[in-house]
Amino acid sequence: MSTREDVKDNERDPLDPAATVPSEIPAGLDRRKFIMRSAVISAAAVMNGCSRSETERTAPPPAPAAESARVQGLAPAPSVPLSPDLDVVKKEKGPVLTTVDEFYKVGPGPSSSHTIGPMRITYDFYQKATQLPADKLAKATKLQVNLFGSLSATGKGHGTERAALAGLVGKEPATVDPKFLDGLRDKPDQVFPVKLGNKSIDVSLKDVIYDATKGDFKHPNTMTVKLLAGNEVLLEQEYYSVGGGFIEWKGYTPPKKNQPKYPFATMKELRTHADTNKTTIAKIMLANEMSIAGRSEEEVNAFVDKIINAMVATVKSGLAMSEDDVLPGPIKLHSKAASVYKRAMDDKFESDRGIGALSAFALAASEENGRGHLVITAPTGGSAGVMPSLVYGLMEVRKVDRQKMRDGMLAAAAVGYLCKHHATLSAAEGGCQAEIGVASSMAAALVATAYDAPSLVVENAAESALEHHLGMTCDPVAGYVQVPCIERCAFGAVKAWTAYQIASNEIASRHRVNFDETVMALAQTAKDMNSKYKETSEAGLAQSVVLC
Ligand code: SF4
Repeated sequence: MSTREDVKDNERDPLDPAATVPSEIPAGLDRRKFIMRSAVISAAAVMNGCSRSETERTAPPPAPAAESARVQGLAPAPSVPLSPDLDVVKKEKGPVLTTVDEFYKVGPGPSSSHTIGPMRITYDFYQKATQLPADKLAKATKLQVNLFGSLSATGKGHGTERAALAGLVGKEPATVDPKFLDGLRDKPDQVFPVKLGNKSIDVSLKDVIYDATKGDFKHPNTMTVKLLAGNEVLLEQEYYSVGGGFIEWKGYTPPKKNQPKYPFATMKELRTHADTNKTTIAKIMLANEMSIAGRSEEEVNAFVDKIINAMVATVKSGLAMSEDDVLPGPIKLHSKAASVYKRAMDDKFESDRGIGALSAFALAASEENGRGHLVITAPTGGSAGVMPSLVYGLMEVRKVDRQKMRDGMLAAAAVGYLCKHHATLSAAEGGCQAEIGVASSMAAALVATAYDAPSLVVENAAESALEHHLGMTCDPVAGYVQVPCIERCAFGAVKAWTAYQIASNEIASRHRVNFDETVMALAQTAKDMNSKYKETSEAGLAQSVVLC
């Protein structure tokens, strides 16, 4: 009779508990919990076609918080309360002052807070360093970036170190060639000279340090940048990447802006302006853009057109990728946008073709984000497939007039501004509801506005899309913005369309929940959400999906 020890690995029945659960329960661990954990991990491994080594089966489990991080090669993740000093927190009280050029940003994927924000931060520091007196610069020997909190916990999967280095060498998110970032991934030992006055300092990825994941930080996405002369600090700045590519720093004061023509801090106030002036939410937003930023209508339109065109371009380039393309990173995720699109077009039911096409457009833009190519924050990189899907569908397929698209983009921006104002756009603060949920809500407002819906229907559509993302967690597998992010963009796009369909077909005044109530629920849910589910890769799919 063979004993358990006699059975070779490849002869084990992978679902036999005796094969999956070690006989020795590690000291200090509840037996039932240990058996459950072993069975779940083994079942996940089996479903993924992986086998677990004897060492893995019998090793004592790491602390739960550290396990996923260990599996993904990442450090444990932070639990960081937001500092009340941050402008992103303080701004809850006054009117909305955000403008479209701050909100819709073009930059490399995969994450506005972990890629675009850090690149803007190091670029800002580089600019500040160039202002130092010549005698100080003459002493400089080193530039150093330290990443903390979520930036440290999941930055490797986001390419945060490459983005941070790109900013240091003077590259900006909107104009950086994604090939530069790809080159850093393929040849990580490259060294670049940074010119500071008459001094040239060599920098490389070694100068970007993955530092503490836990600590007393003002924001979960904290980083410092230093210019050193040996051990002497010539210039140091602590920065925060607060979501959607927005950045702040210690002592930050927001730039002075003009007052909006129609001040609002809630959707109710915004809609009241539109209704009492017998106009639309979009026209109120246009008037505010012009007054806050001191721009002409043509200038605002030109910027919005640039963003619309960039969104169309990202869907087109995503659809043009080979069906065999594999996204960068350890998941080895195959691109699916082109296949989904082709097959959807063959569907015999028109409605299924529509849903398939909308999903394919979102997959296309989101896969571009996964490749680290240029995307548009709407509101973030992880959610960068949602709005472009609807923009592409309305403009390129339904041939909706450009002016209506501009209006839609402004109404969508209003939705994003309000979510930022009262809740968050950062998954590190609020989970995926703050990214895909807000994107879907914005997209619903875009569609309703493009189809000339009354302001109440625009609000109801946005509310509905946001409501049905509440509580959605952020758990990217291996810290890469691919699973669940890419498909999640497709679902966000389809939900936006569903929200518009419901809002435009119901009796608008009977819609029971208003947008402002749902934003408050978003903010409260963000506060209550366990930190394991806030872009830390410590739980959810990041824990249950086994890579092999
Ligand atoms: S799960 Fe959602 S919030 Fe998290 S990285 Fe992916 S898209 Fe962003």
